Amino acid sequence: MDYYIWTFGCQMNIADSQRLASELERLGHQATLDAEKADIWVVNTCVVRQSAEDRAMNRLLLLRGWKKRQPQKIIGLMGCLVGIKDTTLLRQKLPFVDVFLPPSDPSPMIEFLRDRRSEMELVADDERMRHHRDTLQDGDLILPAAEAGNLFSAHVPVVYGCSHACSFCIVPFRRGVEHSRPVGEILGHIRSLAAQGVKEVMLLGQIVDRYGKDVPDGPDLPALLRLTHQVAEETGIERIRFLTSHPNWMTDELLDNVAELPRMMPHIEVPVQAGNDEVLERMKRGYTAEQYRRLVERIRASIPNVAINTDIIVGFCGETETQFMDTYNLLAELRLDKIHIARYSPRPGTLSARKMADDVPADEKERRYVKLEELHAQISAEHNARWLGQTVAVLVEDLHKGKWRGRTPQNKLVFFEHPIDYRGQIIPVEITWTGPWSMQGRLQLGIETTPVCLETR
Ligand code: SF4
Repeated sequence: MDYYIWTFGCQMNIADSQRLASELERLGHQATLDAEKADIWVVNTCVVRQSAEDRAMNRLLLLRGWKKRQPQKIIGLMGCLVGIKDTTLLRQKLPFVDVFLPPSDPSPMIEFLRDRRSEMELVADDERMRHHRDTLQDGDLILPAAEAGNLFSAHVPVVYGCSHACSFCIVPFRRGVEHSRPVGEILGHIRSLAAQGVKEVMLLGQIVDRYGKDVPDGPDLPALLRLTHQVAEETGIERIRFLTSHPNWMTDELLDNVAELPRMMPHIEVPVQAGNDEVLERMKRGYTAEQYRRLVERIRASIPNVAINTDIIVGFCGETETQFMDTYNLLAELRLDKIHIARYSPRPGTLSARKMADDVPADEKERRYVKLEELHAQISAEHNARWLGQTVAVLVEDLHKGKWRGRTPQNKLVFFEHPIDYRGQIIPVEITWTGPWSMQGRLQLGIETTPVCLETR
């Protein structure tokens, strides 16, 4: 059967959809680009903000109409909207959904499909699985045919769930407590991606720096990075990144690994969320603005030419204009490379939704959002302007509106035109134009990337 997956939300959801696709491929199903003609529809949902939840629900309601006309089609609902707890209420509310899949767990869909198979088809499935067991190992991931050989940067979950309980965050309620993936499974996953043409892996966790902390005597993130680096050297993975970090768990050893291992990219994602200590305290983030400031200094001192990206929530419960301006001033001072900004929205069950008033009006949240976005555009433009005239190492990923699109070691977007297809290769591109959100350049084969942005390998 053909399947189609809509993925909303974060990189972890993208990775979860890939895992589901891999399991469906193992059973002989195929991805299709024509959603309406698919036999299996899956909506992988995000509820981290009300707007994300609304988008997923709208998609689901569209599918309800499609299913009325074609009742034999299968609808799966996956991800944080389903969560890890009892789904009885959700089943009553959405009776047209056939299968409910918790985050990171494709097994309910696989069991549902196997229950519907005839005896003969089950024998064929078992043979296919036996073949896969002989040729694949734990953690191996099968990319859909359309992606194999065309996907050059892939996500690899290393730690699921989160045990931190920030007061605004629904993730621990929907994804459960933190649990690390076995190291052998992670390395198997990376090897299988390399065998299918992937050149860059992004190791994922809600607090990725806490990898291994729930496993007595297990490797921690620095050790995992070293092992990943070895596998990368053996298999041809050129670039390794990890996200998302939490300021409290970024050790010097971790930063030294990023600086010293040649295939680790100079790119850190470490949310600050707010620049005022009272707001940070109400958010239960566990650090102060000054501690974050010192962390940024430490990262910049350890990793040459590093890009640091952050997340901000504006209009959190009780945030005054002065407190918002503390956030604004911190960002203006630190001049981080990229800021993901969200307007606060209360999420059911969280501490802030239960105990704090959502008292910043929507239009004021919007004003703060726009003000930060303007600052962000100005700082990003200045950062990118530094690369003008430099030759940067670009991993070419795909064709977008007639131009090749790729990323620098700092994960900055670069576009260029060229008649030859260099997808999957790292090539030198001289930057000829920069803007806040991307850069453009021309291929400079035979020219060394300049030391300021040279990959140290
Ligand atoms: S660290 Fe905080 S914001 Fe991040 S997933 Fe965990 S609870 Fe949510």
